[in-house]
Order: sequence, then structure tokens, then C-alpha cells
Amino acid sequence: MSLRSKLWLVLGALFLVPLVVGVLVLALAVPQVKDDQLRSSLATDQAVVVDELTSQCRGLGQTARLVGFESSASTPTEATAMAVDTGSASYAALLRADGSVIAQAGTPPVQGVAPLALPSCSKGGKASGAVTERVAVAGLPTAAFAVAARRLDSAYLRNLQTSDRLSGQVVLLDGRSVIASTADASTTRKIADAVDGKSGIVTVGGWIARVGPPTTQVPYRVVVTTASGSTSSTTGLFVLILLAGAVVAGVLVTFVARRLTQPMADLAAYAERVARGDLDASIAESEDAEVRRVSEAFKVVQTDLRSNENELEQSRADLRESLERIGKTLTSTHDLDGLLPVVLDAAVVVLHARAGVVLYGGPDQLEVAAVTGLTEAGLVAPVGVAAGRGVLGQVIASGEGVRGTLGSGPTDLHPIDTEPGTGEIVAVPLRSMGNVVGAIALYGRVDGRAFDHDDEDALGTLASQASTAIDNVQLHQEAQRLSTTDALTGLWNFRYLSMSLGREIERSTRFERPLAVLMLDLDHFKQVNDSHGHARGDAVLRELAQRVQEQIREVDTFARYGGEEFVVVLPETTMDGATQLADRICHAVSREPFVTEGEDPLDVTVSVGVAAFPDHGSSAATLMRSADKALYIAKNAGRNRWQVPTS
Ligand code: GH3
Ligand code: MG
Ligand code: MG
Repeated sequence: MSLRSKLWLVLGALFLVPLVVGVLVLALAVPQVKDDQLRSSLATDQAVVVDELTSQCRGLGQTARLVGFESSASTPTEATAMAVDTGSASYAALLRADGSVIAQAGTPPVQGVAPLALPSCSKGGKASGAVTERVAVAGLPTAAFAVAARRLDSAYLRNLQTSDRLSGQVVLLDGRSVIASTADASTTRKIADAVDGKSGIVTVGGWIARVGPPTTQVPYRVVVTTASGSTSSTTGLFVLILLAGAVVAGVLVTFVARRLTQPMADLAAYAERVARGDLDASIAESEDAEVRRVSEAFKVVQTDLRSNENELEQSRADLRESLERIGKTLTSTHDLDGLLPVVLDAAVVVLHARAGVVLYGGPDQLEVAAVTGLTEAGLVAPVGVAAGRGVLGQVIASGEGVRGTLGSGPTDLHPIDTEPGTGEIVAVPLRSMGNVVGAIALYGRVDGRAFDHDDEDALGTLASQASTAIDNVQLHQEAQRLSTTDALTGLWNFRYLSMSLGREIERSTRFERPLAVLMLDLDHFKQVNDSHGHARGDAVLRELAQRVQEQIREVDTFARYGGEEFVVVLPETTMDGATQLADRICHAVSREPFVTEGEDPLDVTVSVGVAAFPDHGSSAATLMRSADKALYIAKNAGRNRWQVPTS
């Protein structure tokens, strides 16, 4: 459920519950109050009618007495006429004791009833349709009674009504018969029917009536009615109020809920845009402090994300560039001197290191193959590292990577003087053909944090790629070596000899420097093979190579020319020097028999042809041909000797 719906419900409940309760209370209380008011107004009306009739009775009594009194002062006719003319009664009469009329005025109130038979209201009259009073008149010679009466009809009651003394309708009943009524005929009939046989409060349809029983003074059933507080109209009103209130509350609540939740909705939309990666999303300044705080916090996150994204982008670009460089280097170079610095640079960039070093070499002693940033970082640059000594030596000896703070913690991170001694380090071994051949070490991160496990992993991955490249370099070097050397003797082969001789002739030509060649051929070598086997022949060839090697200089090129023929190229050597060497070689070979374990010693000799540049040839081909000629001469001359070409 959304926040807006919840808020709507809560606010709705807050508005509607009091409204409903209020309306219910009113709906229950108002009819009650109204009912009470009605009852009290009915009681008042009834009291008014009863009072009126009682006081009418009293007034008529006085009028009757006045008629008796006046009749003695004037005449009976004048006395009765005066009572009617003044409006004190609608009928007045003076009667003798036998009931005969002395004088009368006005309309007799009840048709067909003798005046003397008219009831006396003060003594408990009958329901005769009039208020009649009869008093005895004393002291008059003829008159015994005076009568005063007033007709009790609807006009009389309506008079009461118009004098505002009544608030509702009044019906006077004698049993079921209507004596007088303020209401119209049909209403009067309805009321009369409804109250028949009842007394007290009677509800008639939409009316309430109060029925007073006949009394001595008022011998009528006095029914007073008024329009009842028909609850239906009140209920309808309250339902209307409730509905109107609900509609107003609904509109108000919707407005308030929308106003309260709009900033949150805006914030949510903004957050969603940021979450979808729209880092340029923005949100308007909110009036609400809390929303403003959240959106400010979001803006900070957004800024961080943007800067992280930029950093990430930059670091991706760096990584891409490093990978491209390293990829190109690893696949194209067969030169360790070029390869290792590239690996180090890539490692420094990828791991954001401040400095680094690559060591490379043989199992016990390793040399620095590449170094970067050490001086700038104020660290000692290692010169060479012996396996097992210091932190780097430890990596090489154990073949395990290290990571941590130098000079603290475990003893294996205690450096020696000739290597970096402070700060953070991560170092891993470099391998080739399964053997540790070096190490790559990084010192300190640019951002100051320590190297973590992921960094060590990344460096390990880089090192393993570098190891593959080193393997490739070594394979390449080996292949190159094999293509220019002779497998049996380890000497240069014919191919290399051709290149080397060509180069030397070119150099000697340009600088006019001396150059000589010796061509060697074992004497009667075929017999060695034939008598002692091919393997022994191979051993003789190897030993010969060794014995000759011992006689020559490092700058000389000693190559197997083919079969059991060899050539030595002697730069900066005159004919004289060359013949001396040829002599030494013949002597070194023949001096002692060739010994192989478990075999008979063999006397081996060699013949040598000597030729010098440019006297015996100014090109490789002519010089070699001259040497070959000289060799041929030596063979013919009896072998185990050297010879120069004859002109
Ligand atoms: P000379 O040169 O004194 O005239 O006699 P020779 O017996 O040395 O003559 P030749 O040049 O005819 O024989 C060379 C022999 O060298 C033939 C061949 O069997 C042998 N030979 C050539 N290459 C090798 C090799 O790599 N190993 C062995 N064991 N023998 C070889
Ligand atoms: Mg030969
Ligand atoms: Mg030979």
C-alpha cells in the first residue's frame, strides 16, 4: 500500500470518525430534545385550553351574578341584554325558581335544553357544547336564577389559536363526537379516530397528540396536537449532512494527502532516476526540511557516484591502455629487457602503486630487470637479490607471494638494507617452465590504503601472464640457439658460420684489419666409426670440439662446418698468428689419446688448412676455398699437421 493511500486512510479516519460520531450523537439527541419540546409544548397547549375553559366558567359565573345584580337596579331585560352586548356572554337569562324565563338575551347555547337545565360549569357541567353557569339570585322578588353561557365551538377555539396562545391544533371531544376543533374537518376526523379510547401521548402518523381526560371543570377530552418531530425528516437531514461532510472530508483529505506525499513522490522519482543510472537527474528544492535533508543526502550520493564513475572510467581507460600495451608486448617481444619493464608498468598502473621493481635471474642470485618510482618514493632500489635474503629473497626462495607492511608484523616482512624497508608491499614470484626465475614487487598505493587480497590476486594474474611471456622468450631464444648451433658439439653451425664470416670479412674490408680462417679435418675418422662405432665417433667429435675451444679466444668463431670438418674464424689475426694457433691445435689434439670411460684410448689427429684475408681470398667463398686447399695439402703431406695454400 502506498504512503499516499495510508495517509489517505489515516486522515480520512481522523476526519470521518468525528464527523460520523457527531452526526450520530446529533441524530440521536436532536429527536429526543425535539420530542421533549413537543411534549412540553403539548402540555402547555393543553394547560392553556383547560385554563381558558376554567377561567371562562369563572367569568360566566361573575357575569351571571352581575345580571342578577343589574336586574334589581334596572330591568331584567336590560340586565341580560347588557351582558350579551358587552360580550361577557353569548347568552344571558334570568329565571324564576320554576325555570320560567323572566328575561333572556343572545342565542341559547344548547338547542332544545331549557335554560334551567343548563349545567353549572363550576359544579361539574356536562359536555354540552357550551360553557354555562347558573347562579342563584337572592333578594329579588321574581328571579331565582341568573344564567350566563358561551357557545363552545370551533370559532371559539380558533380565537384562542389566533391569539397565539396555542402552538398546535386543539380538538374537544365528547366521547367520539367532536365538540370543537381548530383543524379542518378531515384532520379533525383523523385525530378523533386516532385518539379514540386512548389517553396520554398518542402518535398519529406524522403527528403527536396529547389526550387529556374529561374533568369536573372541563367535561371534554381535550386533544392537543402538533406536527410531530417526524424523525424521518431529521434523519434525512443528518444523512445529507453526513454525505456532504464525507464529500468535503474526502476532497480535503485527498488534497492534504497529495500535498504531504507529493515531495516524497518527487523524491522517489528522483531516486529511481539516479538508480537507473541517470546521474544528471535533479530535484527541486523542497519546502519540507526532512525531504530537503534526504534529497541533499541523495545529491551527495549522486556526486560521489558521478566522481566514482569518472574515476572508474579513467581507471578503465588506464587498464585498457595497459592491457593493450602488455598484450602487444607479450605477443610481439622476444626480448626480456623490453618485456619486464612493460609488465612492471602495467602492474603499477592497474594496482595504483607508487613504485615497483622486477627481479630476474638464476635460482640463487637475481638482478634488477626493471624499476619504477622507487627514488621518487624515497625507497632503496635493490641492486641484486640473493634467494632467501630479505623480503624479496624470501619470495624467490619460497615461491610464495607476500603482502603487508614492511618492517612490522611477521618476521618474513623484515627487509634487509639493500631493499625497500618501509611502507606497504605486495610481491609475487615470476616463473618460467615451472621454476621461480624472478619476482615482481609493488610498494605503496597512491591512495594510501593497504594492498588487499584482490590486489595480490591481480598481481598474481599479471605475473602468470608475464611468466607465459618469459617462457615464450626462452623458447624463442632456445629455438634461435638451435638454429645456429650444432646439436652434437654445441659449436656454431654452418649457417652461423656463414653469417659470422660474412660480417667479419665486411668489417676487415672496411677497417683494413687482418683476418684468418682455419679449416680442420679429423684424420682417418672413418676408421674410428668403423672400428669403434658411431657413438664413439660422436664422443671423439665432442672432445675434439672441447680441445680446440680451449685453444681459441672468445672473439673467435668456432663452427662445425660439416661431418668431421670444423672452421675457426679469427678476427684481428694475421697469417702468423693463425699458423701458431693451427700448430697449437694439432698439438692439443694429438698430445694425448682421446679417452672414453670403458673404452680403449684412441689416438686422434687433425689436419688444418690455414688461409688469411686478403692474401688468400677477399671474400668468404674464396677465403674458405683457400683454406680447403691448404687442408688438402696438409692431408697429402701426411696428416696431423697444418698447411697454408700454395700460390
Ligand atoms: P681423411 O680425412 O684422413 O682423408 O680420412 P677420413 O676417414 O677422415 O675420410 P672421410 O672424410 O672420407 O671420412 C669422413 C667420415 O666421417 C665419414 C663419416 O662416417 C664420418 N662422419 C661424418 N660426420 C660424422 C658424425 O657426425 N659422427 C660420426 N661418428 N661420424 C661422422
Ligand atoms: Mg672429411
Ligand atoms: Mg677426415
